[in-house]
Amino acid sequence: MKSYLTIALLIGAIYGASARATAEDCERGKKFDIALLSVQWAPGVCASESKRCTVQYGNEFIIHGMWPNYIDNRYPQNCCFEPFLHKDNLDLITNELRRYWKSLYDNDSWGFWIHEWKKHGTCAKFSALKGQFNYFNTTLNLFKQMPIPNWLTAAGIKPSNTGIALEAVREAIRRGFHGRPQLACTHSSSGLPVLSEIRFCFNPESLAHVNCPAETNSCKSKTGKVLLLSA
Ligand code: 5GP
Repeated sequence: MKSYLTIALLIGAIYGASARATAEDCERGKKFDIALLSVQWAPGVCASESKRCTVQYGNEFIIHGMWPNYIDNRYPQNCCFEPFLHKDNLDLITNELRRYWKSLYDNDSWGFWIHEWKKHGTCAKFSALKGQFNYFNTTLNLFKQMPIPNWLTAAGIKPSNTGIALEAVREAIRRGFHGRPQLACTHSSSGLPVLSEIRFCFNPESLAHVNCPAETNSCKSKTGKVLLLSA
């Protein structure tokens, strides 16, 4: 009997500890340095994920996610705020999500949105992004105000299978957005990094455009060039 009691007390203590940890996870979601909008260049992502890219795509930028971030590039994930995505909440914007936030790996896209909500959206507790509808709707609206292809065209940059100076791409985006972006690349057999994502930073409260912290070096190459591949 005594040993049952000990086991029960132990389970209670473990459960209590994990309950406290969950509460701390919730607290982590309260303050962030940056709201980071990650945008994928479909041909770049699919160059390295050709087997997974089962969806039709063209030369297009599409949303990957909106991530609450710290200035040192760390980020919290899977916070405890409304962990389940209620599909009804997105009824009004599902068509736009399918266009601007489509999964490249899955025609349905819901799995992608559920993943992004659970991992990042639950941590986005700042005013304009807080809650399931706001998280997706505000992200869509921010993205629609960013004519990234025009910014590149204005700088004479167009998709091709030959290298482009990384700094020219960065400068074209910085000028258009009025804030330094982060660029992310995958690697190709040609040896040049393949541009796959551009990340944009916003003040989490005002959503003003701000500089992103310096990125990791995934786009660095000896020649300073990257590929902005065409579909
Ligand atoms: P994250 O980078 O946001 O942590 O994870 C992305 C997850 O969403 C991965 O599990 C990936 O398989 C899934 N996913 C579904 N569609 C896409 C897509 O179009 N692009 C990316 N990057 N991930 C996708």
